[in-house]
Amino acid sequence: MHTAFTQTEKTSDVMVIGGGAAGMMAALFAAQEGARVTLLEKNEKLGKKIYITGKGRCNVTNQCDMDTFLQNVPRNPRFLYSALRLMNPDDLLFLLQQYGCETKVERGRRAFPVSDKASDVTKALEKALRQQGVQVKLNTEVKGLLQDDTGLCAVQTDKGVLPCRAVIVCTGGVSYPSTGSTGDGYRFAEKMGLHVTERKPSLVGILTQETWPMELQGLTLKNVCLTGMSCGKIIYSELGEMLFTHFGVSGPLVIELSSHLPDKGETVFYLDLKPGLTEEQLDQRLQREIKAAGKKQVNSILQTLLPQRMAAVFAKVCGMEGTKVCSQITGKERSRMVQLLKKLPLTVKGTRPIAEAIVTRGGVDVKEIAPGTMAAKKIPNLFFAGEVMDVDAHTGGYNLQIAFSTGALAGKSAAKLIKDRNE
Ligand SMILES: Cc1cc2nc3c(=O)[nH]c(=O)nc-3n(C[C@H](O)[C@H](O)[C@H](O)COP(=O)(O)OP(=O)(O)OC[C@H]3O[C@@H](n4cnc5c(N)ncnc54)[C@H](O)[C@@H]3O)c2cc1C
Repeated sequence: MHTAFTQTEKTSDVMVIGGGAAGMMAALFAAQEGARVTLLEKNEKLGKKIYITGKGRCNVTNQCDMDTFLQNVPRNPRFLYSALRLMNPDDLLFLLQQYGCETKVERGRRAFPVSDKASDVTKALEKALRQQGVQVKLNTEVKGLLQDDTGLCAVQTDKGVLPCRAVIVCTGGVSYPSTGSTGDGYRFAEKMGLHVTERKPSLVGILTQETWPMELQGLTLKNVCLTGMSCGKIIYSELGEMLFTHFGVSGPLVIELSSHLPDKGETVFYLDLKPGLTEEQLDQRLQREIKAAGKKQVNSILQTLLPQRMAAVFAKVCGMEGTKVCSQITGKERSRMVQLLKKLPLTVKGTRPIAEAIVTRGGVDVKEIAPGTMAAKKIPNLFFAGEVMDVDAHTGGYNLQIAFSTGALAGKSAAKLIKDRNE
């Protein structure tokens, strides 16, 4: 059937480096096109990062249309167009189902395995790789890419040199390095003369200049609205849940906001603790409560509006002692309380380190890569897929879909290149 592929016993048509989401899909798609594929993974198993995604449930994709998908990719969305055309979220879910992983779609169109087990995603992909005859070499670390007069021709591993006719680099970013993503692909790309953009953490906890959030460490706020402002512009505004930590703030709203942080300029978050009430409604409520409270302390009123632990801290932020007697609250103090209940500022000082980020922002410059094939423009038989490239997205299953779709396109294109060269 696939006579276009001729090679020696030892030479792989396509060598895929990295057995994460992108690498497994790249190997599968290359093999489906008839290429002889070897998948190299330095860990003892495939998909180590997949196991920890979605808190072990793996939010495998977001079942949305193309426009919605691209709106959730803050940088370089158009680069992904061809990859998503080849494999959209429905195609991915169908493929997983074909290989035994049934999925379900939850709130916000987020898709998960029905079993709620991330391992079922990897199992399905492993089954597909076996059926398509992909040779998987675990515990094999790639050290570099080798070139001869004809171009890229082999990879150097810790177990020796493996010749090949095309390489797909799917080594991931530098987040959660214990899963194997240690940035090796950036070094390979740079050695081949490709530009790699600066790496930064995205989808990560945020350090605040204010120290009061640390006093509330461990407290979760539900149904609050968080708005990020930078250079006079709203960069994000969403209702949901957030968490105070020993370094500042985290939790779903903050993690999401972190991917909107601009490269330059100060960013301030404004926390609306009572999004269901207008300033006037809140002021009227406070007036009533202050009147009724008489000699009670400020804390007692604040505890009706805020979680108990937050009351005293909030009073201090308002410039009052929580023990102050309500009847002594001035009009100015009341309006300050209203103002801060609706717009409590948190100034961004920085983020947690990249190793703790859910994704790495930055990577192999997409200007170096042809979006229709995922091949390096300067080196036709070198391909990239997944987080190693300068693409990242919001939470909701988009990052894994990007890895799968770009992997599929790189695999298919690499196999086609070899086939065309043989004909
Ligand atoms: C805690 C956490 C939760 C997440 N949850 C979600 C979620 O629910 N939904 C979602 O869409 N995204 C989620 N993400 C993001 C998503 O997991 C990644 O974007 C995606 O896995 C990237 O896939 P990848 O194949 O490009 O890279 P990786 O998954 O990082 O895979 C790279 C692979 O390459 C191997 N490798 C690296 N260097 C070498 C080398 N030199 N030789 C051989 N092998 C090598 C590594 O060992 C690794 O297995 C989460 C991330 C984290 C950290």
